[in-house]
Amino acid sequence: MRILLSNDDGIYSPGLKALKNAVDDLGEVWVVAPDIEQSGVSHAFSLTGPLRVEKVQLDGCERCYAVRGTPVDTVKLALREILPDLPDLVISGINRGENSGVNILYSGTVSGAMEGAILGIPSIAVSVASYLNPVYDPAAEFTRKICPLVTDAELPTGTLVNINVPGVDAGEIKGVKITHQAESHYEEEIEKRLDPRAQEYYWIGGYNVLNHNGSGSDMEAIREGYISVTPIRVDQTDREFIRVMKGWNLE
Ligand code: MN
Repeated sequence: MRILLSNDDGIYSPGLKALKNAVDDLGEVWVVAPDIEQSGVSHAFSLTGPLRVEKVQLDGCERCYAVRGTPVDTVKLALREILPDLPDLVISGINRGENSGVNILYSGTVSGAMEGAILGIPSIAVSVASYLNPVYDPAAEFTRKICPLVTDAELPTGTLVNINVPGVDAGEIKGVKITHQAESHYEEEIEKRLDPRAQEYYWIGGYNVLNHNGSGSDMEAIREGYISVTPIRVDQTDREFIRVMKGWNLE
């Protein structure tokens, strides 16, 4: 089995290292990831500039490449240029910080995996749901465990598996829940500061807030201490609303 690993935290991130260690013996593992952090770039790719690729020695890794680009750039290059043939599995992560609710939309980690799903390749995005001092090993172990299920599942083209794991020791994790993406929004915290030259700048922060109680959602499972596993998809059509629009008599 050929496996492609990517991420948005950058090729030197501890989450990617933990993931690689966990899946290394499952097959021929390739790592193609951004050379620096690209969190929050979503599905951006580079239309107007060159993409530089550098082979890197990552703990003696034979098939590791750093790309000066976005997560989607790295997966596109990996699939079309760097790997000898398409992989059997794409895994993006392990991201530092949860990708649940509306975060999925902003996430470079999820978009990296989505790029695989667009081509019908079994694909997984995986994140730890803590930002400060996260523990990656339980997420790495769980991802390893789910790999054969995902590759054998005959996922529809455009569907991928989004995993969030509490960033704590395995003993503190309560179990696993299959969830749906929460409806959430950002409670924005935009800070205005002065740089050393007395010029104003802004720094966007904030936190992910449920729109309603979020029962059965990824955010609820994570908050209750469970691993959340959600099938998500590329097709963003609101199929229910098509019926309403038909009534607009535009056609
Ligand atoms: Mn990230």
